[in-house]
Amino acid sequence: VMHEFVRAGAPEEILYVSKPHIGTFRLTGVVAAMREEIIALGGEVRFESKVTDLVINDGQLEGVVLASGETLHSRHVVLALGHSSRDTFRMLHRQGVYIEAKPFAVGFRIEHPQGMIDQARLGKYAGHPELGAADYKLVHHARNGRAVYSFCMCPGGTVVAATSEPGRVVTNGMSQYSRNERNANSGIVVGINPEQDFPGDPLAGVELQERLESRAYELGGSDYSAPGQLVGDFIRGVPSTEFGEVEPSYKPGVRLGDLAPSLPAYAIEAIREALPAFGKQIRGFDRHDAILTGIETRTSSPVRITRDNETLQSLNLRGLYPAGEGAGYAGGILSAGVDGIKVAEALAKAMLAEGDAQDAPLVRAAG
Ligand SMILES: Cc1cc2nc3c(=O)[nH]c(=O)nc-3n(C[C@H](O)[C@H](O)[C@H](O)COP(=O)(O)OP(=O)(O)OC[C@H]3O[C@@H](n4cnc5c(N)ncnc54)[C@H](O)[C@@H]3O)c2cc1C
Repeated sequence: VMHEFVRAGAPEEILYVSKPHIGTFRLTGVVAAMREEIIALGGEVRFESKVTDLVINDGQLEGVVLASGETLHSRHVVLALGHSSRDTFRMLHRQGVYIEAKPFAVGFRIEHPQGMIDQARLGKYAGHPELGAADYKLVHHARNGRAVYSFCMCPGGTVVAATSEPGRVVTNGMSQYSRNERNANSGIVVGINPEQDFPGDPLAGVELQERLESRAYELGGSDYSAPGQLVGDFIRGVPSTEFGEVEPSYKPGVRLGDLAPSLPAYAIEAIREALPAFGKQIRGFDRHDAILTGIETRTSSPVRITRDNETLQSLNLRGLYPAGEGAGYAGGILSAGVDGIKVAEALAKAMLAEGDAQDAPLVRAAG
């Protein structure tokens, strides 16, 4: 996967540095180069073409229906939906495709000055050009049984809006290649476990995400600002009214108040306990004016479109190959890429075994 990225224009250093980073703006160019290669090899890319239904005949997938009404016929379909394709998860469930709830996490983004993180992590070498912006990874096991951990830490980055639906607020984080924005941010999230939190209903995690994101929108003032609170006030349980030295990076803005109503009580309790513990590991982590911006709900997919371990096809629909993060088999760019390769190999194997007269030579050529 790394070699493919470099071939498509990513910096060569990702082949050997321990924490490879491409950066958002560069990554878009890399993806475009990969797309051009697929097209040059005879592939076709259709933008704005939403799959709205499946054509199923006796347990075998025979095609997909697009929003335009067009049907694409195929007995082999790779479904790589991403973790936010909620309407499609519902369609699959309605069509009887086996899906199950899987663990994910909810929480906030936290922001500190990058210089403070550098100082705490690198001491006298803070700011050394060879070291760049420092990162961190934190875990705390709370007394109420919940694990709180830092997620997707972005050195010298920004907190970004990541909602995919109107009337909802979700945050995420990103860094450019240079990692030289003033703040460090990460998700501080609490694990959600379907067996404990919503047994039985495969879509209950999706519904929880939707409820929390709608509430975050309201708490943010219903104009896509995100609700926020200073860390000191959050720990004490009082609403915030004024920013300190740390300026939030989220656009269009952060509306200060009380974040307690934005997440389930067990998550608030666990994060309240974790922040001072993190302050013991990284000096200043629980400083009064560090900013929490709400909310983070999409650490990974809330469902798994379960597949057979051998064939990588859906457990109960032949010809459907769920793949990547939305299928619940990846959690990030690299693992989604690796999963894509695994699925492509399984698909090629199945087509060769079936002796698919039309497709097999193509698969061999691509093989
Ligand atoms: C702001 C941000 C920053 C991130 N930073 C990092 C990072 O630094 N490192 C990292 O490893 N990961 C990061 N991630 C996560 C990473 O983007 C995902 O893990 C990865 O893209 C998953 O790949 P995927 O191919 O499985 O799904 P996606 O990349 O989500 O692709 C799914 C595609 O399916 C399409 N789709 C969905 N439903 C349908 C339908 N019904 N019909 C047709 N098309 C459909 C979607 O439009 C989308 O194009 C970040 C995510 C965000 C939002």
